[in-house]
Amino acid sequence: MYYTSTRDKNVRLSDAEAILKGLSDDGGLLVPSEFPRFATADIELLRKMTYPQRAASVMELFLPDFTRDELYGMAKAAYGADKWDGGLAAPVRKLDGATYALELWHGPTCAFKDIALQMLPRLLSASLGKTGETRDVCILVATSGDTGKAALEGFRDVPRVKIAVFFPRDGVSDVQKLQMTTQEGGNVGVASVGGNFDDAQSGVKRIFSDAAFRAELNAAGLTLSSANSINWGRLLPQIAYYFSAYCDLVNAGELETGDPLDFVVPTGNFGNILAGYYARKMGLPIWRLVCASNKNDVLTEFINTGRYNAKRGFYATSSPSMDILVSSNLERLLFDLSGEDDALISGYMKSLAESGGYTVNDDLKGHISDLFTGIACDEAETSAQIAELRSRFGYLADTHTAVGFGALKKLREADGAAAQTVVVSTASPYKFCGSVIEALGGQPRGDGFELLGELESLTGTEAPRPLRGLLGKTARFGDCVAKDEMADWVKSFLGM
Ligand SMILES: *Cc1c(COP(=O)(O)O)cnc(C)c1O
Repeated sequence: MYYTSTRDKNVRLSDAEAILKGLSDDGGLLVPSEFPRFATADIELLRKMTYPQRAASVMELFLPDFTRDELYGMAKAAYGADKWDGGLAAPVRKLDGATYALELWHGPTCAFKDIALQMLPRLLSASLGKTGETRDVCILVATSGDTGKAALEGFRDVPRVKIAVFFPRDGVSDVQKLQMTTQEGGNVGVASVGGNFDDAQSGVKRIFSDAAFRAELNAAGLTLSSANSINWGRLLPQIAYYFSAYCDLVNAGELETGDPLDFVVPTGNFGNILAGYYARKMGLPIWRLVCASNKNDVLTEFINTGRYNAKRGFYATSSPSMDILVSSNLERLLFDLSGEDDALISGYMKSLAESGGYTVNDDLKGHISDLFTGIACDEAETSAQIAELRSRFGYLADTHTAVGFGALKKLREADGAAAQTVVVSTASPYKFCGSVIEALGGQPRGDGFELLGELESLTGTEAPRPLRGLLGKTARFGDCVAKDEMADWVKSFLGM
């Protein structure tokens, strides 16, 4: 098992090196050379395990530099009952006999990013030792809202690591902003960027590919890494919850091992759903993967036509973590489905960078539409779903999860049938109070924190502890930088 680049198959890195680097020097994404398979008997074994054991069982197959005990220790610390409201990291909730929600947001920052970002810092710290890296690490993050907070929380006060987070000034919810600007820890920095998420993300990518900047850092004893889902160490922990959800449904008598199961995934950067694809490739009986998009429906169009076109209007929607036009992880899927054709992928990515799009060949287009269904929901449909889920099932969904349920509704209307389906529920409704209150017919007043109370009284539910804990915290970070000044800001953050 080694790691190679989607743009150059001559690259050969160990797993610890891949986690430390985050991104290949050629700009490609790092991928494992093999995908071990789980036979039915292996899935039967997973069924009897706890979530930390399941996570370690999946991760150990891809991380030969780590021992099983080491990984299990990390998984117990990351997914221990004390960190997750209700005690479980990835519980499945039944809505009816064919419809389930895989709730991944009971962790410290109330979004599914915690699953990966409670694990990545442990993997990365250990990788520093395993590779003999002597420099410290500076993690740069561009966030559409949830990754930033989850990364800050995961990396806070981790030795030998500094972390800087950029979020789009007008692109995150009040609660998300409050979560980030009040972050504690001696090694963290946060700034907003004048622009949207793609501006923040391309600013970070520019810093990564700036050789002069890297040389300066190197002289200061630092190296860059990423906590975005382009890092393999972030994607890998996400494969585990697909296996776990399947096992839980078998254990609950909803499925028999071997039965097909559909997943609907609210998608932005294509990380979450790619983990589902990898789980399927490893032998999990996933039948269909539904890629749900909001009004920024670049992926829906791509799955349906084979044309990726990022040159389009950008919409700031009520599901901001999915307001993304350049879905980085798609590159890994294309690499895999093209039979690891690095030259072909390099060509597509060059075309994306230079002209804002590319069209895949018929072969790839066929593979993609066999495996994935792309469905988009607009703002009205998303809002209507929140109300419908509440009245039909007493289920309170956030805006992102509602996009997923809206896509499922459309699929079932088109199919005229209801296959057993898990919708991946990606955030607490309390992270997006304003939109949820409006969808339920209320009138949001007040600012970030007051909205938590309004949603509580409207629904008779309680805001998660970590969000209630924001009360009384003062903002530590208020800088807003222009997108071409991000590198300078990083330097001053690092004291250079
Ligand atoms: C990040 C995020 C998504 C999108 O996930 P990707 O892995 O980027 O596709 C969806 N919903 C929420 C709440 C998120 O934070």
